Amino acid sequence: MLKLKNVAKYYHSNDVVAMGLRKVNLEFEIGEFVAVTGESGSGKSTLLNVISGLDSYEEGELYINKEETSYYSIEEWEAYRRQYIGFVFQDYNIIDSYSVFENVMIALKIQGYDKETRKQRAEELIDRVGLTSHLHHKASKLSGGQKQRAVIARALAKDCPIIVCDEPTGNLDSESSKNILNLLYEISKDKLVIVVTHNYDEVRDFATRRIRLFDGEVVEDKVFEKVDPSETKTEVAPYFLNLFSLITIAIRNLIRTPRRTIFTTVVFTFIVAVFTLVYGFFVNVTNSTDASGYNFVFNNVTDNRVIVTKYDQTPFTPEELATINDLNRVIYVNNHDVMNDTTVYFYQKDEYYIDVQPAYINPAIVLSKIDLSDGEPPSSKYDIVVQDDLGYQVDDIIYIDYAQKYFMSDVDFDSVSESTLFADKIPFRVSGLVKPTNLYSWVKMFYFHQDFIEDPTTISHSYLGSRDNQIYEVTLDYGDYSLIGLNYSTLVIDDTIPDGSIQLSDGFIGTFEWYADEYFPDVDFESNPTYYLDLDFNLVSSSSFDTFTQPISISGIYTGGGVDEWEEVYAINTNTYNNMISSNIYQITAYASEAYDAELIVENLEDLGFNAIYPQNVSDPFTILAKTILSVVFGGLMLILLIGIYFIVYMVLRNIQQSKIRDFLILRSIGANKSSLNKITIIELLLSTVFSYGIVLLFLYLQKLYRFVPMAGNIMNYFTWGNYLFLTFLLLYLAYLLGSRFNKRIFNQSVITSLKSE
Ligand code: ADP
Ligand code: MG
Repeated sequence: MLKLKNVAKYYHSNDVVAMGLRKVNLEFEIGEFVAVTGESGSGKSTLLNVISGLDSYEEGELYINKEETSYYSIEEWEAYRRQYIGFVFQDYNIIDSYSVFENVMIALKIQGYDKETRKQRAEELIDRVGLTSHLHHKASKLSGGQKQRAVIARALAKDCPIIVCDEPTGNLDSESSKNILNLLYEISKDKLVIVVTHNYDEVRDFATRRIRLFDGEVVEDKVFEKVDPSETKTEVAPYFLNLFSLITIAIRNLIRTPRRTIFTTVVFTFIVAVFTLVYGFFVNVTNSTDASGYNFVFNNVTDNRVIVTKYDQTPFTPEELATINDLNRVIYVNNHDVMNDTTVYFYQKDEYYIDVQPAYINPAIVLSKIDLSDGEPPSSKYDIVVQDDLGYQVDDIIYIDYAQKYFMSDVDFDSVSESTLFADKIPFRVSGLVKPTNLYSWVKMFYFHQDFIEDPTTISHSYLGSRDNQIYEVTLDYGDYSLIGLNYSTLVIDDTIPDGSIQLSDGFIGTFEWYADEYFPDVDFESNPTYYLDLDFNLVSSSSFDTFTQPISISGIYTGGGVDEWEEVYAINTNTYNNMISSNIYQITAYASEAYDAELIVENLEDLGFNAIYPQNVSDPFTILAKTILSVVFGGLMLILLIGIYFIVYMVLRNIQQSKIRDFLILRSIGANKSSLNKITIIELLLSTVFSYGIVLLFLYLQKLYRFVPMAGNIMNYFTWGNYLFLTFLLLYLAYLLGSRFNKRIFNQSVITSLKSE
């Protein structure tokens, strides 16, 4: 049934051609027990390898059931091996990390037996080789003889007609050898067993035929017992392990080789961490719009802020405001939206200097308890929550000003006493500390109590006091002329001021004098400095949407509140103020309870017909350009990093992967096809990657909660599902590339040389 006709095999290495076999002619039949003998180097192993399809041959023809094999493809050889050949080698080709049972089971699995049959057959076979008591023992724990018996059980598992044994007893004591040979002899009744041995005496009692090789040639072929020719023709259909089986095998491999798995996971965790951090940084930078942390459209891009206006540019009705207030996921509506883009200033004291720093006003309600690293949310009007990277502790006092009155260059801090500097500032008690949301912003986020946020004075300062935001214009008009712009002046709300009137500080007298010649040519301001008190003015407030004009008289010179003589302060009562600013509401901010709700709120508001935007997603052209450049640069860096890491990891893991080669070759020799084994390697690496990714994400999540690396902040701040998906695919692709490369390396080595060199 198996026939070699003029088969020759050469080995080429470094221009030296060694002769493996020369024109060998042999025929074998089922039922034979063939002993192949010869000196070392005579070609015994070569003969077995050619017969078993582990090695190619150069000349002649090998027939199996009269079928030529010289034109077989890799897949056909795989099928040939799986179908016909069972292997037993000298050095126990057994998967050490598997139990006896598993070693046999996997062979059955590769043959495509169903689960029930597999279990039953495995137990039978193991019983047959006398290893039932060692069923679940790890192969590495067995003695040589036991290992060899397990290998025979596995070879039998395949139900193949040919068993080839290359010095199966070479490493065994005589007692074990005898057992093994007995076993092989029993098997040979319905199989062709070919045993290579250098010790013929051992097999003398069993052999039905003896073949002696010398220098690659058959020099003796003696048949003691003739058997009838027969054919065993079985369907040779390639069997592919299904994905589930491949994953099971991959997982078992990972579990059974813990040291290899741990090492691989550590290496992968490292690269996943590097990648996630670089990518996270990239996403962070491109999302925090520019390096200073705000974009050029909105200053305060707090991540749960949604800005709402109406498409027809009319003011909101109370009903509409109520609707927005009641919207799902909206926790707070700030009717005075401009407040959010207003900068306040605080004074930070060092040992040697006092620094003036900008901060944004945010309602404390946007804080969730989890954001607080210490203390409590504000419980009274002058409580404040500040970022924990400023050096303040809970209960410290922090002085806040609406408009920056002193610039560093203007103030000689050596001579200005603290009490002078802070005299007109509002002292706030720090009630809690919060982790910074935007790592790259030099403008800090402050969180105030509702009472402060909704205090008309605060609102007025927000509208009028900020130098940064000329969104709301307030002028004092005389006739057709806008006489005095009040935006740069300090507004005081004082209810002792009569309704419909305004009081200006001394600082304005100079302004009137300045205009005297033009507007009041008849007035001698030198002798009548308060002449303007008799005149009628209009207080005009205008936003981008509308203008509100109210007639106003000047009822006196304002002297309250410790005003300096040069300072421009104007005072009105609450009613006048309300007429001025809050009669109409055109733009509001709705706060989402969580940042990830914000975009949903935008959708809901749009469905209701409002114009809603999420400032985090708004970019100006400059920002878009900056982002594009950043993306290209970072994309390039990522690519370089990817390639670099790929090679480093390849080098680091090469040896550890190499240690798998033996197991793979064994699997291959028992008929697993190349593509299945490729997939197993790749699945193992993908699993390691997923596991490592999990570790890294867990770490980052804990970091988000507890900030154990204080400066690192929350790198995943801006991650969307898209980002996670992209990163996942990138990492899995990296693992895939690595797996493919390892596979190539493994399969470049011929099955037998690798097995033998172990
Ligand atoms: P045996 O098993 O009888 O000891 P082999 O079949 O292993 O002999 O070797 C037969 C001949 O082929 C020897 O001369 C040996 O040097 C040569 N040979 C075997 N394998 C290789 C190989 N992978 N590369 C080069 N020469 C080889
Ligand atoms: Mg040999």
